Amino acid sequence: MEENQNNNLSNLSPVPKGIRDILPEDHQYLTYIKKVARHRSRQGGFRRIATPMMEREEFITAIHGKNSDLVKNNLYKFKDPEGNDMVLRPEGYSGIIRAYLAHEMKDWPQPIELYYIEPYFEFVPQEKKQFYRSYMEFGAVSIGEKAAALDAQLIYLAHKILQDLNIESLFQLQINHLGCEVCRPKYLMDLENYFVGKERSLCFSCQEKVANNPHYIFRCHEEDCQILSELAPKVNNYWCEDCSKFYNRLRSYLEALEISYRENLGLVGKYDFYTGLVFEYWDRDQKKENILLHGGSFDEVIGKISGEKIPAVGFNMRLEKAIKAMKKEKIKVPSKDNLQVFIAQLSREAKKKCLQLMISLREAGIKAIGVLGKGSIREQITLAEKFKVPYMIIMGLTEVRENIIILRDMKVGQQKVISYDDAVDVIKKLVGEENLDTYTEGELG
Ligand SMILES: [Zn+2]
Ligand SMILES: [Zn+2]
Repeated sequence: MEENQNNNLSNLSPVPKGIRDILPEDHQYLTYIKKVARHRSRQGGFRRIATPMMEREEFITAIHGKNSDLVKNNLYKFKDPEGNDMVLRPEGYSGIIRAYLAHEMKDWPQPIELYYIEPYFEFVPQEKKQFYRSYMEFGAVSIGEKAAALDAQLIYLAHKILQDLNIESLFQLQINHLGCEVCRPKYLMDLENYFVGKERSLCFSCQEKVANNPHYIFRCHEEDCQILSELAPKVNNYWCEDCSKFYNRLRSYLEALEISYRENLGLVGKYDFYTGLVFEYWDRDQKKENILLHGGSFDEVIGKISGEKIPAVGFNMRLEKAIKAMKKEKIKVPSKDNLQVFIAQLSREAKKKCLQLMISLREAGIKAIGVLGKGSIREQITLAEKFKVPYMIIMGLTEVRENIIILRDMKVGQQKVISYDDAVDVIKKLVGEENLDTYTEGELG
């Protein structure tokens, strides 16, 4: 009976479909990206926020709209033990909007500028080529003020981060303006009328969207849908005076900030709630499938929920995509994982002294492992080589008695004897002050 259970459990180890592990090698990139994102966000006056992993389904539906593709097909829904309909959060804006309302942030000095780096979930059907259902997202949001200069600053933040990550040249910034509550309704109506009667030329998914979500067709990758989208009415012909002014101002700010961009009147943004400015960083070969970062303003969303009109603009980026781009470019990131010292102990007597020495080395910021006492000295040297450790400490019975250690330089394969008491200072110098892994109290996190 028990044996059977064990057999069944061994089938549980594969990663669930669509979910992924971030292994140490990729995590170095993740750490680096987070560091850059934190640094640039703080510099820009953004403060970090973390919202819960789950939200009420009703709330997410209210934000995105019940006809949005996200709500219809891509939510990770579940019932909690009390029977409430919940979802794993699909993106970062919703939680921030809820927090903004819950904590009455409108009474704080405006604009509220926040950033986040958190895991998110989207239920993507398995048949899709890339059907990852969990990902890390970095995003920044500015709520409470409307000004082209704010939008320009947000784009500048995205631009700086991509530049710091050395991947900006792989992508191109595309911008568009979707109009406002004054001029947008007419545009959307004309768009709908344009597609009505052409349903037979559209793919199955797009056919359903003509009446309530014509922008969906702009995002479709099917050739026929794309051709029809290109011939559709152009939003710039509908902009009211305010929208034209806003857009021109934004462009002039981007130019002043030396950010290159491409105007793309077919760009509608990832979310249906985007209005006004939308922007995306596309792969240079302009494949729609490979959008690294997207953003836009969502001035009508908060009003829809609270009744009070409050402007907002934001962007977000999936970090796995940034990691992929960095690896493609063969960009090296500083790794803090590299071990510096391997301690080999060759007698039971040496174990205690080696353990003490290892703790002292670690306290000094030197990354040390070992003291396993397994195998011969040759075997332990081989193990140290596999760990790619630059220095090795060897202690046997003689060394314990004489209060010395053998210090081996793994690169040159030479060793020397030094006093046990000097070991930490000597190795600190060899490793170099700048490579010590230390932190000041209170700096953790
Ligand atoms: Zn307008
Ligand atoms: Zn289509």
